[in-house]
Amino acid sequence: MPEVHCPSCNETIGVESSGIYECPYCEEEFIWQNKGHYEEVPKEYIGQFSPMPIEFKIIFGAFGILFLMLLLGFLFIAGFSGVWGT
Ligand SMILES: [Zn+2]
Repeated sequence: MPEVHCPSCNETIGVESSGIYECPYCEEEFIWQNKGHYEEVPKEYIGQFSPMPIEFKIIFGAFGILFLMLLLGFLFIAGFSGVWGT
């Protein structure tokens, strides 16, 4: 039986499966989810299945913003020339 600590009084309570439990010490209800299986998977292992590293996302995002700014600047200048230029 897994043991959890009550979030209110920190007493140890035995639990059986995911669900809502009432602490016998302080009578506060808390939700416990059995996610021990997932916690056993190392974060590095999950990272391998990430479609793109976060660094690439930042770089591509920065280039995207730069491109949009250049495009807006070009449109602004083009519009400005259209109004005032001959
Ligand atoms: Zn408690």
